[in-house]
Amino acid sequence: MPVVMRRCRSIALLAVLCGLWSAGALAADHAPSLAMTPAITPAALPAPGRLPAAQPIGGYANGCIRGAETLPAEGPGYQAVNLSRNRNHGHPDTVAFVQDLARHATAERLGRLAVGDISKTFGGRMETGHASHQIGLDVDVWFDLDEPSLPREQRERTDFPTMVNLKAQRVFPDRFGPRQARLLELAATSPKVARVFVNPAIKLALCEGERGDRSWLRKIRPWGGHDSHFHVRLDCPAGATACLSQDPIPPGDGCGQELLSWFEPPKEAPVPRHPKPIPTPPAACIAVLAGN
Ligand SMILES: [Zn+2]
Repeated sequence: MPVVMRRCRSIALLAVLCGLWSAGALAADHAPSLAMTPAITPAALPAPGRLPAAQPIGGYANGCIRGAETLPAEGPGYQAVNLSRNRNHGHPDTVAFVQDLARHATAERLGRLAVGDISKTFGGRMETGHASHQIGLDVDVWFDLDEPSLPREQRERTDFPTMVNLKAQRVFPDRFGPRQARLLELAATSPKVARVFVNPAIKLALCEGERGDRSWLRKIRPWGGHDSHFHVRLDCPAGATACLSQDPIPPGDGCGQELLSWFEPPKEAPVPRHPKPIPTPPAACIAVLAGN
């Protein structure tokens, strides 16, 4: 997709969703897999006896998950927030990723992770806040690493601080520092991670700050919102034959024109945006989403 078109789409998304973002809620995001209207039927799945225990079905923005695992509400180095939403369920790879990231963060004294939404019990579309997070392979982590250990009822909040001066389109250096950058590097170099979405200003700060090995920057993807949390997306697991992957990331560190295009004024007026019809879930998800 040409940069201009992508940018216009982003602006339109921003216009529609900035209310959500400014309220600190999680953005609807990452439309690419919407295009993958899958013809996945129960017959397309592997024979039941050969199914892995957990099965993501469909695409990140239109699917479900069978056999999701629940992230414990707290564990070494992390606490899950907004548990009343019941969105702390995901593929075992996602749960293991969060726990592993928290352990590494603790070992490096980065701080305690506040973990946001993963997926609903069976995945699927959420009533509020996200387009993706439907197959248990997406997880949001807040950038604020200085939260004390809190009782669960005090974790019902989304008012975590933004890392970005949105007017200046640059990070606040006293908020987004080496600990946040290192946490993103740990996430991006985790082997099963496909992409890490951050605000373009955060990607810019990383591009400007990295003096050593820049290869990990490739998986850090600029996207609107994502200024108080980052969004980690895992690859489809091995053997998950009904899971639809996204296109590969373009080569390079992503610090060039693609990133800069986010900071350019729009070249054409955004076209008024009509709400997209909600895609029909894959047929194989109907029973799963009904809890069967
Ligand atoms: Zn997210």
